[in-house]
Amino acid sequence: MDTITFEKSLAFAQDLDAKDPLSSYRDEFYLPKHSDGSDILYFCGNSLGLQPKKVAAYMQQELEDWKTHGVEGHFQAKNAWMPYHEFFSAKLAKVVGAQENEVVVMNTLTANLHFMMVSFYRPTNKRNKIIIEGTAFPSDKYAVTSQIRFHGYDPEECLIQLRPRTGEETLRTEDIEAVLREHADSVALLMLGGVNYYTGQFFDLEYLASVAHDIGAVVGYDLAHAVGNVALKLHHWNVDFAVWCHYKYLNSGPGAIAGAFVHQKHLTNPDIPRFEGWWGTDKKSRFLMKDNFESMPSAESWQLSNAPVFSMTPLLASLELFDAVGMQKLNEKSRQMTAYLEYLLLQIDSDRIRIITPSTSKDRGCQLSIQVKNGNKALFDKITAKGVIADWREPDVIRVAPVPLYNSYLDVYQFVQILQNSL
Ligand SMILES: *Cc1c(COP(=O)(O)O)cnc(C)c1O
Repeated sequence: MDTITFEKSLAFAQDLDAKDPLSSYRDEFYLPKHSDGSDILYFCGNSLGLQPKKVAAYMQQELEDWKTHGVEGHFQAKNAWMPYHEFFSAKLAKVVGAQENEVVVMNTLTANLHFMMVSFYRPTNKRNKIIIEGTAFPSDKYAVTSQIRFHGYDPEECLIQLRPRTGEETLRTEDIEAVLREHADSVALLMLGGVNYYTGQFFDLEYLASVAHDIGAVVGYDLAHAVGNVALKLHHWNVDFAVWCHYKYLNSGPGAIAGAFVHQKHLTNPDIPRFEGWWGTDKKSRFLMKDNFESMPSAESWQLSNAPVFSMTPLLASLELFDAVGMQKLNEKSRQMTAYLEYLLLQIDSDRIRIITPSTSKDRGCQLSIQVKNGNKALFDKITAKGVIADWREPDVIRVAPVPLYNSYLDVYQFVQILQNSL
């Protein structure tokens, strides 16, 4: 797989597409179009995934069921609304490498991060620090900082931000480990983005979880940029909790329902506090409207409210595609397509750009982050004007994600042509 020798020609890109076993999945999605009807070069699946064509029919089904059954739709709908969240567990568990009872779809990402920290960030005077990436997504930083303050501690002292070595852009595993060991007794939580949104670096989540546990800390990962993008084995890696959204690589539409993982070992532990609601109490007795909450040995017990069906439906359509392809085949194509993008970018003879994403495929997903010299956004504006949808992240990075489910090698080829001509 990794040993293929790439060539620079258009014919080679077309040949890769012809040989791509997943090429037909592109037809399962709507690709944004120019006014002349041609496809836009879409490289923003890491920000908002494209719409699976089946979504409209699935949404229509829910609207019909509501129209026809009213409240009885909770039982009579084709996909009954009462157990609606359960329809995702099996397929989602495969995507994140979990047991079915360890995953749940609920709320939105940042909300889930807070709810998980209610359970898993319980600082004491001795152990109260949270370690995150210096380039963590702002929402994650706001969440951890406000949690620290909420518990009466000072973020200046308790929030440790990992920084790369001088002259480097990504973090070395050994350096993260060194920080964990340096603060050993005082670290409450290691909270990393599984794939960093800015650099595209995929951390060694298994090893870092083992180090964090070794020093007595809890491990939580934000998988917004990892889920549906890289191979995950949350259960096996012994991760304590994880959260993610479904509108990026999982193609479930703006603000779609999010996901959470709680490791089996915590599911029956009565000492773990939790913010609770009626959808978390045992389903068997939920409608007896009892005074006390009855926990289930499942991540479902973290649910608060009844299922927001319309924000969940697109995920049904999307997960079917993931299930049909399987993460392994997806990862194989992803590695090859991203390596191809990297190869073409490295052929460009210009010192105005450089790739800051790790060059080894095990340390990244499909995204490459291209740093532009002097943070000159004019280059990004130029490629946008020429019909590329990528994204610009301050201060100086163009992020491009060739998504294996719907991007083609020809897309990648054409993008690099446009970039080169714009330089
Ligand atoms: C996309 C993303 C978010 C967005 O949070 P929402 O609550 O879904 O708005 C948060 N954190 C990370 C790491 C992200 O990549």
